[in-house]
Amino acid sequence: MSQCSAEFCKRVADMLLQFRDGTLPEEDVQFVRDHLHHCPPCVGIFNSYEEVLEVLQRLQPVKMPEGLLERMKRKIAEGASIEDEGDCQE
Ligand SMILES: [Zn+2]
Repeated sequence: MSQCSAEFCKRVADMLLQFRDGTLPEEDVQFVRDHLHHCPPCVGIFNSYEEVLEVLQRLQPVKMPEGLLERMKRKIAEGASIEDEGDCQE
């Protein structure tokens, strides 16, 4: 096989989550599997996905106190209106 094409790697990276979930169409599964056979970097990406997802699954969903949520929203709103670029006013 020729060298790994960055374009293929991008396609595979986009499909890895579905590939892992088993929600990927059969033809794409074949494509991903085939690509992983000759592209170690993509295998690495796939393995790191696996690790992240495993960690996420182990974490318990955390309930946020309502006051905290409000405060965070306000913080975000404040952050969103930072006027560091004053020359694009409408
Ligand atoms: Zn690749």
